[in-house]
Amino acid sequence: MALIPFDDRDGWIWWDGAMVPWRDAKLHVLSHGLHYASGVFEGERCYAGNIFKLREHTERLIQSGRILGFEIPYTAEEIDAACIEVVRRNGLTDAYIRPIAWRGSEQLAVSAQQTTIHLAIATWGWPNLFGDNRMKGVRLGMAKWKRPAPDTAPTASKAAGLYMIGTLSKHAAEAEGFDDAMMLDYKGDVAEATGANAFFVFDGEVHTPTPACFLDGITRRTVMRLAKNRQMKVVERTIKVEELPRATEVFLAGTAAEVTPVRAIGEHSYTPGAITETLLADYEALVRMSPDEVAKRAA
Ligand code: PMP
Repeated sequence: MALIPFDDRDGWIWWDGAMVPWRDAKLHVLSHGLHYASGVFEGERCYAGNIFKLREHTERLIQSGRILGFEIPYTAEEIDAACIEVVRRNGLTDAYIRPIAWRGSEQLAVSAQQTTIHLAIATWGWPNLFGDNRMKGVRLGMAKWKRPAPDTAPTASKAAGLYMIGTLSKHAAEAEGFDDAMMLDYKGDVAEATGANAFFVFDGEVHTPTPACFLDGITRRTVMRLAKNRQMKVVERTIKVEELPRATEVFLAGTAAEVTPVRAIGEHSYTPGAITETLLADYEALVRMSPDEVAKRAA
């Protein structure tokens, strides 16, 4: 498949309050965000014209910036409106949305107190990985990089710098023929994939690692609620790597990944089953409801 470079497309990108033609949305190379990874971002999806959990994503974006010591100079209302506007301006109804905030070029050293904070929001079509074959499933390799401890890195922030180990892990997995990597945490316990949270079915119950050093994903929380609505038992706990062979189903949950069945982790194979299928269908139905309906269901 030919790649369409991200700097050479038609469309509009919202940048610091203005709509900028896509190809003109360029950054100076001496930006603090580029050199020191002082950036935070979001990944959102719009379904049938509604951005799913928009306010939660916006609040996480603002909070991610605060964790890195900066304040995004827009209110949550303004950021929500900008996300909606950029989708509309690009003529999309089903799309991925990528807000990103970063420190500018006023200072280029470790200290960056005087830098201005910028915000850009782009959007593009990003269909589900599997299209009609949703139950096919992905294969995960075991990552050698570990999720750092919360006192080693700002792990509650969706900070650009944290994706360095994600890219390393994903590349290593791809080099071995896997689709993605299963990452462990600094203690050696099961953590998450490189861009999505992980769920495991043990004895008919839905188990997921406690998000003590990685993102407590918005999709993760949604799927936990959907499972509870189905009277499934949901258990958040430390999951040991030795337990992986005993799981009967495994799936990932994330905004981009949505609910994605897993059919292998390393040498262990799994058959995506009824629990994964039910939650995948419930998630698909939920994201296509209007925001009012979603609020009504409190899911
Ligand atoms: N973990 C990582 C590392 C991610 O990049 C993502 C995607 N944002 C998630 C988990 C899932 O988060 P969410 O469901 O909020 O998209």
